[in-house]
Amino acid sequence: MNKEFSANRTNGMGTSIFATMSKLAFEHKAVNLGQGFPDFDGPQWLMDEAYKCMKEGKNQYAPTQGILSLRKAISEIQQKYYGMEWNPESDITITAGATEALYSTFQALINEGDEVIMFEPFYDSYQADVILAGGIPRYVTLQKPDFHFDYNELEQTITDKTKIIVINTPHNPTGKVYTFDELNFIAKLTIKHNLLVVSDEVYEFLTFDNAKHIPIASIPGMRDRTITISSAGKTFSMTGWKIGWAIASNKITEAIRKVHQWTTFAVNTPGQHAIAYSFTKLDEYLPNFRKEYLDRRDLLLSELKTTSFNAHKPLGSYFMMVDIPESSMLNDEEIAVELVKNYKIATIPPSVFYGKSNEGRTMLRLCFAKSNETLIEGAENLRKFK
Ligand code: PMP
Ligand code: GLN
Repeated sequence: MNKEFSANRTNGMGTSIFATMSKLAFEHKAVNLGQGFPDFDGPQWLMDEAYKCMKEGKNQYAPTQGILSLRKAISEIQQKYYGMEWNPESDITITAGATEALYSTFQALINEGDEVIMFEPFYDSYQADVILAGGIPRYVTLQKPDFHFDYNELEQTITDKTKIIVINTPHNPTGKVYTFDELNFIAKLTIKHNLLVVSDEVYEFLTFDNAKHIPIASIPGMRDRTITISSAGKTFSMTGWKIGWAIASNKITEAIRKVHQWTTFAVNTPGQHAIAYSFTKLDEYLPNFRKEYLDRRDLLLSELKTTSFNAHKPLGSYFMMVDIPESSMLNDEEIAVELVKNYKIATIPPSVFYGKSNEGRTMLRLCFAKSNETLIEGAENLRKFK
């Protein structure tokens, strides 16, 4: 075939690193601390509820914006946990995971040539979505070891073409939780330059130690400038259910819903009902959920102490970054392949999450949403690498 059928916008778009590493993990029978998903199920009562909903006949298309009871539940959570008032009728849209919320949001907001600032390492779909929408990604680096950013660098990255700043807190892949000062600085710039913020908060309930999750939309002046995105997949350890949402003021929501209706139209019905129910149990569910993830984080941190991979302690999410031992003379991609093939441990090489700095070459990402046995076995395999 000499005719090029694929659209230009797909050029240069490779397979996601998560799919690539999970495939390698499978082929080499390696312990998978790479792709971010729990290797255990979420609560049994949630599965029972989904089954009950199916048996009750909740199986046909849901309304395009999502079932009202789930939108109401999300609005109540926003009120209760963050003091935010959102109208479930006009401000909340249920999507096929946070992934679709992000895609629909960027499609809804970006015109050709608009610039979008993202902090690197970034969650990979931001860059892809911005490019697919005709926008131009610009980068600000979260710098090791604490993944802070330089306020001047952010300010100087803003041009008259900038439209959106993307943040993700708690942060994948570093485990950073943005502080009030950082969010306040971003908010001030957003208001000063008349921008929007897309805030990915899928790990909103996974913070550790004294870290506190603050939605940037709750900072004065930011409510109508923020699109808040989250997902039930992380909170209920059911990443395959793909139920997410976008929260934004009415006008922005209207634009997001226009894209959403032509992307998925509606999201799976029994899953939405089951998640609406699960939110009624959130208060009793969260303490144990957080404690279990804290224990997993601490187990992996302590196991890593006897390896040559120095860990950066995460304050949120279920990921941590580790430094590649300098003596290996390998970059992240080289060592990730070496580890999965010869040491039976899959990780994520993070350099694909950077658009500007080379810092990603010096680290690997590990996921600790895994059973104790998997974490111990994974660390055992890493320990063999000298
Ligand atoms: N944003 C971040 C930061 C994520 O880590 C993920 C999934 N790991 C997503 C978005 C996508 O969420 P979902 O699976 O609900 O589409
Ligand atoms: N977000 C998950 C991660 O960070 C992966 C999701 C995916 O594979 N698309 O590993």
